[in-house]
Amino acid sequence: MEKVVVFGSFAADLTSRAPKLPKPGETIIGSSFKIGPGGKGSNQGVAASRAGADMTMITKVGKDVFGNIALDLYKDENMGTDYIFIDEEKETGTALIMVDENIAENQILVVSGACGNITDDDIGKAESVISEAGIILMQLEINMDATKKIVDLAHKMGKKIVLNPAPAMPLSKDILSKVSIATPNEHEAETLTGIKVVDEITAQKAAEKLMEMGVKNVIITLGKEGAFVKTQDESQYIKAIKVDAVDTTGAGDAFNGAFVTALSEGKDIFQAARFGNIAGALSVTKYGTAPAMPYRSEIDKVL
Ligand code: ADP
Repeated sequence: MEKVVVFGSFAADLTSRAPKLPKPGETIIGSSFKIGPGGKGSNQGVAASRAGADMTMITKVGKDVFGNIALDLYKDENMGTDYIFIDEEKETGTALIMVDENIAENQILVVSGACGNITDDDIGKAESVISEAGIILMQLEINMDATKKIVDLAHKMGKKIVLNPAPAMPLSKDILSKVSIATPNEHEAETLTGIKVVDEITAQKAAEKLMEMGVKNVIITLGKEGAFVKTQDESQYIKAIKVDAVDTTGAGDAFNGAFVTALSEGKDIFQAARFGNIAGALSVTKYGTAPAMPYRSEIDKVL
């Protein structure tokens, strides 16, 4: 089994629910408030750990109460905290989420804080653990200069780089050409390629375009439709599992974490995508992001 490194963001999700969202300048009384661990990097790390990966989580938090939430989470999940860097000045990343409980509409304000301040020194400290890993899983929520440097480093070391290009943003050929497997959702695939993904045919086109841009293999996740997988020699459309969805946030995170776990166990990209597909489906049957990530036993039961 190969070791996995997940290098990405942590943010505390601060979620208020109210009968309506406030207008600029307006104050309204909400009905509930919840603090929970979030950030795509962290969620994908939890997903990989619960799916059974031999993994190391790398992220950065501030010296504050929200940073403690991260440290408590990783202790509870037995993920280790050796590579949870602490920023002396910047605060922990936060996402202020306001949910209109009547129409399930939301407004989100993210401040990356510490995980937007990954320094050369941090990357230096992570170098040895990256060199021991076979696979590194990244997203786009930490500072871009650090993302580029980590991709360069892992590429030089000959590591398999799995990039979940979220949140959606255009990327240079230089980065894309170093990515072994990119895993955008429909929206991210469109941002990267300009091709609107609505079905299998358009997914195939967007995947081809991404490969022309340098990515070796592509998986486009299609929500409740499943996932489209393309390698140099073969394409497969993998149907989603039918479930009763209650909260679809974090489905992509569950998919990515479980997917790299299966890859690390030697499964091929199609088998690993099937494994990720099940994890994604199971995650939408529960509320929240990190707490909704399925355990290995639950995934195996469906398999
Ligand atoms: P993201 O959360 O990044 O937008 P997707 O919505 O594409 O990602 O979901 C990732 C994966 O989770 C999908 O490829 C699919 O396997 C699974 N999934 C998501 N939504 C559902 C659903 N409603 N039913 C079953 N599986 C789902």
